[in-house]
Amino acid sequence: MASRLPLRPPWGWAWCPAPLCPPGCPPSRGLCGAHLPAALLRTRPFVGGQWMPADQALTFDLAQARATFPVLSPGTGAHLARVSDCGAAEARAAVTAAWQARPAWHRASAQERSRLLRRWFDLMIQNKDDLAKIITAENGKPLKEAHGEVLYAAQFLEWFSEEARRIYGDIISTPAQNRRNLVLKQPVGVAAIITPWNFPSAMITRKVGAALAAGCTVVVKPAEDTPLSALALAELASQAGIPAGVFNVIPCSRPKAKEVGEALCTHPLVAKISFTGSTATGKILLRYAADSVKKVSMELGGLAPFIVFDSADVDQAVAGALAAKFRNSGQTCVCPNHFLVQKGIHDAFVGKLSGAMKAQLRVGSGFDEATTQGPLINEKAVEKVEKHVRDALSKGATLVTGGKRHESGGNFYEPTVLSDVSTDMLCSREETFGPLAPVIKFDTEEEALAIANAADVGLAGYFYSQDPAQIWRVAEQLEVGMVGVNEGLLSAVECPFGGVKQSGLGREGSKYGLDEYLEVKYVCYGGL
Ligand code: NAD
Repeated sequence: MASRLPLRPPWGWAWCPAPLCPPGCPPSRGLCGAHLPAALLRTRPFVGGQWMPADQALTFDLAQARATFPVLSPGTGAHLARVSDCGAAEARAAVTAAWQARPAWHRASAQERSRLLRRWFDLMIQNKDDLAKIITAENGKPLKEAHGEVLYAAQFLEWFSEEARRIYGDIISTPAQNRRNLVLKQPVGVAAIITPWNFPSAMITRKVGAALAAGCTVVVKPAEDTPLSALALAELASQAGIPAGVFNVIPCSRPKAKEVGEALCTHPLVAKISFTGSTATGKILLRYAADSVKKVSMELGGLAPFIVFDSADVDQAVAGALAAKFRNSGQTCVCPNHFLVQKGIHDAFVGKLSGAMKAQLRVGSGFDEATTQGPLINEKAVEKVEKHVRDALSKGATLVTGGKRHESGGNFYEPTVLSDVSTDMLCSREETFGPLAPVIKFDTEEEALAIANAADVGLAGYFYSQDPAQIWRVAEQLEVGMVGVNEGLLSAVECPFGGVKQSGLGREGSKYGLDEYLEVKYVCYGGL
């Protein structure tokens, strides 16, 4: 069948490369929906260990569960799959399932929880190619990056399978002879977890690994753009033997997100809300949490500064800038939003950065091996980049490279550098979340810190300097949760991820990540 089509249609897109592509299979810049890895392709909610609506014992509205929404390829707009569009009823059914599974999961030994998380990790690694294809299909990121995400995501399960066995309480020196004072760490309870599309797999395992290790059970509402990765994880959790009801996934469309979010985050049986996404949505969920005083973790938006001081090694700074800025086409919350470059090194940095971008960045299908820059997630995301570029140019910025939609059309945008950028431009004040590198020239360290710290968010910050005293000063004074010093890639499962100011509350990954799912209980044992 595939032979009926030329390898590349006239406009340069590849047809679906599956060997037996059926007639009507759309040009797709990669796998079409019909050829997503069938073994992991699931489209229904996973609740109480069942793919709803298979379990008749669960009470939910069948008609609603049959409603579906399309998952689109960001590269072509092609339909990849139709997924159940859950509503409040499914959200409540999932919370009930998680609540029922909670006592047994809590009582299971730490070793047992650890073993099951480890098995889940092993299955992710065994299925890494299929998981990566699903990520590339629904998110658009290049397959190589998708593989990186799968490994990163799996490592959270591995890390927390190890941490599950290292949850310690305390014994406190007694203030009275006839008493002993103890501290127990206990699971918080049912956690509602709401995740974004930019890391469809890792943002789930970073939360769920910690929650399950601590003895909590969870309901995950994945982003509407990328539910297939979440459902594939549910299939592997089931194969790993994670007990029914411990890990539940309820996908829904954007129009249903409010209803599902509200049902989860106001439910009396939910004790914890963990969210990654925009600051605006985080504030809505915080209001829900306030009414019933739920514990919260919020990983919200950033406005990461990338500062290059005169003392920096310019080639090292350019390499770090490329790695930090253009991963996932600029759609990570720790991507530098703007570059602050000291006047002595400014011209060299801008020249070398734009040269490196032209030499190293390739826009195209995530399934093409040469591609480094996939499409943005949707039209709205492209429009935001366009708006920021237009605004900057109208206020006096200079276009160094890029500056428009890529010739492929659709959601593809050219990697772009603007110089002569000032702090009143939108691209300096709002998160662009796309492949735009605006450069602001500065004179002094104080000036750079003042610009960087003016933001009301503070997730990541980067700076390049070879001056040890300056390195300490700036690392301590940057108002962010994570600092990259002469380094553009800072995430690691062993290290705490999170922000200050309006970038969020709490930390994920690392030894601190478990605390978000544990209560500290003081026991005063008297009458001795
Ligand atoms: P978003 O807030 O629009 O969506 C995130 C999730 O929230 C999705 O699942 C969405 O369906 C859901 N949602 C939206 N409105 C809701 C509502 N009213 N009630 C309940 N759920 C609702 O954000 P996005 O566009 O998916 O992601 C981009 C943003 O996320 C950026 O600002 C980025 O910085 C941030 N982000 C932060 C981190 C981090 O770790 N700090 C990581 C990734 C993304």
